[in-house]
Amino acid sequence: MIRTLRTNAELFEKAQALIPGGVNSPVRAFRSVGGTPYFVDHAEGAYVYDVEGRKYIDLVQSYGAVIAGHAHPSVTSAICDAAQKGTSFGAPTFGEVELATEIIERVPGMEKVRLVNSGTEATMSSIRLARGHTGRDRIIKFAGNYHGHADMLLAAGGSGVATLGLSGSAGVPLAAVADTLVAPYNVVPNIGTDVACVIVEPVAANMGVIGPAENFLKDLRLACDRAGALLIFDEVITGFRLARGGASEWSKVKPDLACYGKVIGGGLPIGAFGGNSNIMSSLAPEGPVYQAGTLSGNPLATAAGVTALKLLNSEAYSHLNRAAERLESGFTSAFELAGIHALVSRVGSLLGLFFGRSLPTDYDQARETDEELYARFFHAMLKRGVAMAPGAYEAMFVGLAHTDEIIDEIIAIAKESALSL
Ligand SMILES: *Cc1c(COP(=O)(O)O)cnc(C)c1O
Repeated sequence: MIRTLRTNAELFEKAQALIPGGVNSPVRAFRSVGGTPYFVDHAEGAYVYDVEGRKYIDLVQSYGAVIAGHAHPSVTSAICDAAQKGTSFGAPTFGEVELATEIIERVPGMEKVRLVNSGTEATMSSIRLARGHTGRDRIIKFAGNYHGHADMLLAAGGSGVATLGLSGSAGVPLAAVADTLVAPYNVVPNIGTDVACVIVEPVAANMGVIGPAENFLKDLRLACDRAGALLIFDEVITGFRLARGGASEWSKVKPDLACYGKVIGGGLPIGAFGGNSNIMSSLAPEGPVYQAGTLSGNPLATAAGVTALKLLNSEAYSHLNRAAERLESGFTSAFELAGIHALVSRVGSLLGLFFGRSLPTDYDQARETDEELYARFFHAMLKRGVAMAPGAYEAMFVGLAHTDEIIDEIIAIAKESALSL
């Protein structure tokens, strides 16, 4: 019966009757850009096709999770092969060892990794581990950094100085964020000796794309060492997109723990966190910090993840960076041509768009940019066949499927769209 619903509007109406807001992750509802979301029928490479048969060049790419492009033949066949051997066992598998090998081999200093089911689980569990390992309760996060939706990480930012966390969502009791300190990004906070860990996006990519200021990560590392606090890199976006060894390799700063997600699942649900053997041995069953999962290390997800990681050779990184560089200059000249104050921020293949006169360096500045203009640009692009994320603070994601021709097409459409605003 649902199959008889043919348009995005019909499906959205039905979905809203059955699912809060019609979506299973809030940004998908288009609330911040307005209008009706497109319902995806299928996708291939750099393209998504909606249920009305409309084709879009996709700059969402599942928020970076499908770095090889949609339905990449190798990834798809790895998933099919795995599925034929059974989908979940409640017992360890070869695939888990293989993915752990692929991750550890890439990251300087990483010795052990635990696989989970999402980025949220990775950050949540790594914080529990940091607290259990250090015997301290307090944590520090940065305003505008997103670490998934675990209670203690849903603390909103106070500006200026580090403030005690205020709950950023209904349903998160103050007690849950009472030990969360929120500091402005790009400034090394005071770290007390009661702090278990500092968690940071090494390149912020959830308030638009904001790179770390020179020496920020290095100085944060030193400050953590002085306080005996663990440094956690949330690499759920940067992990294996920014460089072969992720942001640890890119920044030459070694965190104590790193969290992964998105890219490492090749488009299937997965997450991971890891560090040196000493810290990781505090985790059950070796140590006292409990962490578990019925579907953790799922064979379909590990097969897809291993295949996707193997596609990421040095040519792949050159391709990603060049595609992003070309988009950076193409978008920049499109806005210049149209006389619109907009800036493109780029770190490696991560791209962000800010409608304003200067590039923000923290969350307060990012929020001063023109969200309404983003919404208009978003719809101008979508109408012409380019799907960007339906939110002003999301990154644009290029993947291996974005060829030079496709990038040229995006740039041409960006020019038309900018001129139409
Ligand atoms: C997406 C994201 C998460 C959350 O991952 P989920 O798989 O959505 O739970 C955490 N941290 C960062 C930096 C992310 O971009």
